Amino acid sequence: MRIFWHQRDPRLVDNRGLTAAASDDTVLPVFVYDPEVLKYVGKRQRALRFRAWRRLKQAYREHGSDLVVRKGETVDVLTDLAEEYGADTIYHNRCYRPVRRNRARALADRVPTETLTDQVLVSPERLDERYPNHGQFYDDWGDQHKLPPASAPEADSLAAVSDGTTLPAPDVDVPLPEASHEAARDRLDAFLRDGIGSYDDDRDALGEDATSRMSVYLNNGLIGIREVWRAVGDRLDAATGGEHRNVEKYRYELSWREQMVHLLYHNPRLLSENYKRFERPIDWREDEAAERDLAAWKRGETGYPLVDAGMRQLDREGYMHNRTRQNVASFLAKHLLIDWREGARHFTRQLIDHDPAVNYGSWQWTASTGTDSVDVRIFDPVSQFEKYDDGGSYVREYVPELADVPTGRIAAWPTLSHGEREELAPEYHHPIVDRNEGYERAQREFEAALGKR
Ligand SMILES: Cc1cc2nc3c(=O)[nH]c(=O)nc-3n(C[C@H](O)[C@H](O)[C@H](O)COP(=O)(O)OP(=O)(O)OC[C@H]3O[C@@H](n4cnc5c(N)ncnc54)[C@H](O)[C@@H]3O)c2cc1C
Repeated sequence: MRIFWHQRDPRLVDNRGLTAAASDDTVLPVFVYDPEVLKYVGKRQRALRFRAWRRLKQAYREHGSDLVVRKGETVDVLTDLAEEYGADTIYHNRCYRPVRRNRARALADRVPTETLTDQVLVSPERLDERYPNHGQFYDDWGDQHKLPPASAPEADSLAAVSDGTTLPAPDVDVPLPEASHEAARDRLDAFLRDGIGSYDDDRDALGEDATSRMSVYLNNGLIGIREVWRAVGDRLDAATGGEHRNVEKYRYELSWREQMVHLLYHNPRLLSENYKRFERPIDWREDEAAERDLAAWKRGETGYPLVDAGMRQLDREGYMHNRTRQNVASFLAKHLLIDWREGARHFTRQLIDHDPAVNYGSWQWTASTGTDSVDVRIFDPVSQFEKYDDGGSYVREYVPELADVPTGRIAAWPTLSHGEREELAPEYHHPIVDRNEGYERAQREFEAALGKR
């Protein structure tokens, strides 16, 4: 008998650890509800995960088995279960968040364990420790062999057990997608059919639903990355003309996710410290005015239409378009000069597709404290709106106060006079920071911290 310990992988399909555990022995599937680990997961995402665990329990029951659920401290619970069921080895998939890695090490000190790479296509250990830029990471990563999807375990290799535990069903303030492998696969298939052929051309168009929305499924483990890679590869083989470039771009984007996991694996402090070395610490604003600005940013009331639309999308859906994620993050860390960690923590609480490596790595990239090779990258929310929200439909969707304002005036909003703004949309906010002053203050502060002034 072996135990398979489910963590961020509530699925039977393309689950490498589960398949390995079931290869030539009986497997007892287990989930440990450990409040100490779950407290790092935002409430919204936790609600989604609990739905996924309930669905998984049902899936095991349909296979004549059950997901054994225990609440408590992970290592103690698993050690006791191994003894109770006479299991000789505990299998699990590798996780990269430091708290989970510490748990895995502590477990391995107590019982024999086998761990597998499942969350990513290429194990971070197979690559160099550090890359100067994404291009070089991509070249190396691209050359690595990628495994096919793991086959689902045979029903008769699953332990014939039953477990009456009821998992919690917490209330949630955002609509959640169905938390199952079937729902993930349906979404993928629809995107492969209708979206991926023009992905590169359209993905930045904010008003269009032109991205895959796979992040919520991938990061909650509802679909395996090998299954996605294989399906996209097949689509690439079938692509004709310009589709080829579009499908290829999608595969390229997946490599960013892999790079962020690689980064966290080699830099566990990515979640708390600047990745880049500075000559002197960045002098983030921390006074009362900064606190007010941070609160306005969180509420989507900065008076910068694109930033506010993004923050309100996050609040309403637990999701935000990548282009606006970059803009709101840059606005907080640069125009408002507020520590990127405040923003990353807010995203952790709000996102339903949160992944610690991707979130913190992307925040650092956008804040110019991470892997970006540009010294001080500052997104201008005015020109970004003009470029990516053609016609202003994205902003109008999330900022109804601007519904009747002409698009050109929405673009110019932060630079209009107070009187003009009052006349156009008295309900909407005035900018909390001057566009040029915010930009120049950030430029000065970052260059000084880098020792370039
Ligand atoms: C500040 C900030 C925080 C972010 N936090 C997260 C997070 O917590 N979780 C998360 O999944 N993504 C995060 N991203 C990356 C990106 O915004 C999302 O992956 C993307 O918006 C998800 O939508 P999609 O699945 O429709 O993307 P698509 O455009 O369809 O991309 C397909 C997949 O590729 C991967 N991908 C695409 N872009 C990126 C990227 N820039 N970095 C890493 N992977 C990428 C994702 O797995 C995504 O699901 C963050 C980006 C920024 C700037």
